[in-house]
Amino acid sequence: MRRFDPREVKRVVVKVGTSSLIKSEKLELDLDRIDALVDDLASVRGMGVQPILVTSGAIGTGAGKLGLKSRPKDIPTQQAAAAVGQTLLMHAYARSFDRYGIPVGQMLLTRDDFSDRRRYVNISHTLNSLLRCGAVPIINENDTVAVEEIKVGDNDMLSAYTALLADAELLVILSDTDGLYTADPRRNPEARLIEVVEEITDELRGYAGGAGPVGTGGMDTKLAAAEIVTGAGGYMIIANGAERMVVTRILRGERIGTLFLPRRKRLSGRKRWIAYSPRRKGFIRVDKGAYEALVKRGASLLASGIIGVEGEFKFGDTVGVLDEEGREFARGLVNYSSDEIRKIMGLKTSEIESVLGYRYYDEVIHRDNLVILER
Ligand code: GLU
Repeated sequence: MRRFDPREVKRVVVKVGTSSLIKSEKLELDLDRIDALVDDLASVRGMGVQPILVTSGAIGTGAGKLGLKSRPKDIPTQQAAAAVGQTLLMHAYARSFDRYGIPVGQMLLTRDDFSDRRRYVNISHTLNSLLRCGAVPIINENDTVAVEEIKVGDNDMLSAYTALLADAELLVILSDTDGLYTADPRRNPEARLIEVVEEITDELRGYAGGAGPVGTGGMDTKLAAAEIVTGAGGYMIIANGAERMVVTRILRGERIGTLFLPRRKRLSGRKRWIAYSPRRKGFIRVDKGAYEALVKRGASLLASGIIGVEGEFKFGDTVGVLDEEGREFARGLVNYSSDEIRKIMGLKTSEIESVLGYRYYDEVIHRDNLVILER
């Protein structure tokens, strides 16, 4: 089992949820809580680690300011609430970080920023230069313009994608409980805190309940985030946001909350993106021989091993690779479109040209553009 060594951490993404930031009766920002969080992040910086904050709270705070009684359900009102709340949120952080002379930079993102390679590279430059300039990046979903279809959807997932984008070794999700329990600790006195997770099993998923009254995520979205982060070779911790200086203490080596261990060696930047960019345009099904060649020998995917194609995709799109049973075991960038692959599947590489009239590539997916997913 790999151990967590906090000295490996150079960058940490910290996610804080609405329920840790606002007073739920009044839907108003809890400025003491914000100051406490900022104290913690400033201290993390003092340790030589770069913090990146993913924060919720825009819609909730905006709803309060607009005099609404609860978090709005319809999209236009949510967008309006987010527009109002996001400025209040940033103002509160900027003011709080100012106590330390630390500038903050706002980045509002949507799913397309992660799934489109060009936008992804672009936002990664923004993030890196903010850090280089000494600012703390503060990230939220762009709720004012994002409609359901283009949203990441919840900030647990957004924080996982941010951890990949930032190449952070650690994601800390601050929650309103101490971590992942075997049952709901508010209702069941037998509930036990799970300290270390090596593998995200169905049993574990069974422990995860839904969200509280104001947030959008629950333990299930946190597990989905853990799946991404640990699958790319990173660590994730769920800890209680109400604890004092919790991120600092984690980085000093205190064992706090639930720790998720990496399921593989760290993936490089491009491979991280290929494996976890939010959208796959289609799937390619391969036979047993190709499966073995890809998984055991690190080979490229050739047309001869392909037995099926699902969806419509173009050159350069991300697809999932399925085994004969339909289980997705790899993801990669294709050199041929779905229409082309339908014509050449099962053929030898030397036969491609006689069918298509050209052969740009020998491989349908080159091994450099292919990531085997750890199960
Ligand atoms: N982006 C939303 C907000 O700031 C929160 C989403 C979430 O908490 O998952 O209100």
